[in-house]
Amino acid sequence: MDEKEIVRLDRQHVWHPCTQEKDHETLPPIPIARGDGCYLVTVDGKHIIDAVSSWWVNLFGHNHPRLNRALQEQSQRIAHHIFAGFTHEPAVELARRLCDKAPGNLTRVFFADNGSAAVEVALKMSFQYWQQSGKSRKTRFVSISEAYHGETLGALAVSGCDLYRDTYRPILMQGFSVQGPDCFNCPYGLERDTCSAECFAPMEEAVTAHHEEIAGVIIEPLIQAAAGMRIYSPVYLQKLRALCDRYQVHYIADEIAVGFGRTGRLFANELAGTAPDILCLSKGITGGYLPLSVTLTTDEIYGAFYDDYETLKAFLHSHSYTGNPLACAVAVEVMKIFEEEDVLGQLKPRMALLEEARARFAAHPHVGEMRRCGLVGAIEMVTDKETRTGYPWQQRRGFQLYQKALKRGVLLRPLGNVVYFMPPLNIPMGALEQVVEVAWDCLNEVTHEP
Ligand SMILES: *Cc1c(COP(=O)(O)O)cnc(C)c1O
Repeated sequence: MDEKEIVRLDRQHVWHPCTQEKDHETLPPIPIARGDGCYLVTVDGKHIIDAVSSWWVNLFGHNHPRLNRALQEQSQRIAHHIFAGFTHEPAVELARRLCDKAPGNLTRVFFADNGSAAVEVALKMSFQYWQQSGKSRKTRFVSISEAYHGETLGALAVSGCDLYRDTYRPILMQGFSVQGPDCFNCPYGLERDTCSAECFAPMEEAVTAHHEEIAGVIIEPLIQAAAGMRIYSPVYLQKLRALCDRYQVHYIADEIAVGFGRTGRLFANELAGTAPDILCLSKGITGGYLPLSVTLTTDEIYGAFYDDYETLKAFLHSHSYTGNPLACAVAVEVMKIFEEEDVLGQLKPRMALLEEARARFAAHPHVGEMRRCGLVGAIEMVTDKETRTGYPWQQRRGFQLYQKALKRGVLLRPLGNVVYFMPPLNIPMGALEQVVEVAWDCLNEVTHEP
């Protein structure tokens, strides 16, 4: 098919995610033919730097020789088989490697096939644990403002992004949503690098008051990604860990976006020195190759489900593609690459480049803040630097910037007034420089600066 035909059929039959389809009247979807490292290559041969890692999944670039080989080799053995009553080497090897590297005492791995499903598993696991541990009143979950944990109904119920949640509110389970960190507009007037997470107070109050009803607290460690790469202090997580211990509440860490090196460490919890009771991982787990997710937990939680059949304590959750061997084989290769290629060490010059950019962007008259954690950077566009007021959402400045950058060969998908970088961890330095330059020029254009 040529480009025109692909677009024609797309417009006739396809419904895209997170998209007002009418926008495609002026900006049709772009057919991609292949990938090449950090580049997406269009059907007509144009190279686009994938500065958002294709929605935060890609780790080492597209069309990666080692991941290709792992996938091909596994495909010649078996693509998929039932995972109840059967097992396979890639799954057990992946489970072993993840438990080995994960923070704390996470010893058990439950498989699913996307991030939202991993969150559903975590919530059900936590709830059922308390049901089977003599604490049946613990049925509710606490989440923070602007949280994002996926878009299935359970995951949406613990999310705080009104944009995604409001429409469905009448059909969502009730939990506790508490005000979380807001470092860009800190109500305490503090700096995230030096504060003591004073903003933890609402969480402390809610859990103290309602702990008898609370099964767990779910949170995105250090970066609230979908909320606009909102970065907060690790002290918040330390306080949360202590609070959860005090009141017998599970600390559920959703590292679906921030896991696998994005923060400069393999897992974000390492930066806080904290360990969750339940850990959700997905996105980068297969380097952006195949849908896979895992929910890790402790022996203690696992133990509450382990009993004679007649007790009916088993965890009956399942997905058809649970433990998919192709995905597991690629995920094992991802873990090997981290270990053998010093991926985290190679991040240093890239993080330094982003840090340099940070000073430059921060001084821009229409940037309220540029923040960075690991190889994630976010530029907060404002109409007024003094008052830190954002552009009215209807103006879609971020979306305009996205369009302009795309014309110049850089994919920068915005989140409202926030433009962010989350490139593959091995993006060549030259390409990263280009991303920063294009972002700078396009920022000037959409904010009408000379
Ligand atoms: C993307 C994301 C999810 C949902 O994962 P999907 O695979 O898109 O369902 C959950 N939590 C966080 C923090 C995410 O970024």
